[in-house]
Amino acid sequence: MKCWASSLGDCADGMSREHYVSDGIFDGESITAFGLEWCRDEPRTISLKSAVAKILCAKHNSALSDFDGEAARLSKFLVSEVYRQPTVEARVKINGRLLEKWALKTFFNLGYLRALHREQPNAIEPPDSLIRYLYCNADIRDGIGLYHVSHSIGASSLEAGVSWNVIRTIDQPNQVVGLTFVFYGVRFAVITEPVRAEGKIQSMGLVGEFDFSKSEVAYRPTSISFLGLSAAKKSIELEW
Ligand SMILES: [Zn+2]
Repeated sequence: MKCWASSLGDCADGMSREHYVSDGIFDGESITAFGLEWCRDEPRTISLKSAVAKILCAKHNSALSDFDGEAARLSKFLVSEVYRQPTVEARVKINGRLLEKWALKTFFNLGYLRALHREQPNAIEPPDSLIRYLYCNADIRDGIGLYHVSHSIGASSLEAGVSWNVIRTIDQPNQVVGLTFVFYGVRFAVITEPVRAEGKIQSMGLVGEFDFSKSEVAYRPTSISFLGLSAAKKSIELEW
C-alpha cells in the first residue's frame, strides 16, 4: 500500500510500520477492541505486532508522533488522577488540535486498513484537505474535528484503553464519516464531514449501555469537567 499522505508529494525514507493505534496509548503488547463491527459479537484482541501495516512512509509516520504524545499525556492524567487518586482535585491542559489530530489520524489508519467495519468495500482515503490539516496545519471547515460527548464517570464506566463505534451517514448507510470513542472513560467523537454533527451523534441513540440521545455534545470543547469517584473535581482544559 502506498503512504496515505503521499498527496503531499514529499514521502521519504521508505515505508515504515505503523501500528493500528499508536504505541503511546497502549503500553502493552495488545489492545482489546470493542464496538467496531468486525468485532461486535465479542471483543477481539489485536496483537500490535501482527497488526502493523505499511501505510505511511517513515517521514510521514514520524511526523505524527506529537499527536501520539498529547493523547498519551491525556491517558496518563486519566489513569493517574481519576483512577488511582480519585479523591484529589486535579486539572490538566491539553492542546486540543493535537488531540484532534490524533483522533483523525487514528480514524484514517483504521479506515485505510479497512478495519472500520466488516463489509467495508474500499479503503477510506484521507481527503487532501485533511492531510494538509494534519501535516501543514491548513484550515479545516467548521464541523470537522473533535467533539466531546457528556458522560459522567462512575464506577460502572471505568474503562481502560480506547473503544470505538463508527458513525455513518443516515442517507448513505455504508459511508462512515466518523467515530465515537471512549478514551479512558471520557467519550469523544471525531467527524470528517464539514457539517456540525451534534445531532447526528445524538441520533445514534442507545449503543450498548450508553444513550447518545440523552448526552450533550460539544464541538471543540474548551473545558471538560467531571467528578471523580469521591466527588473531587477533575478537569481537562483544551487549548485550541
Ligand atoms: Zn509519505
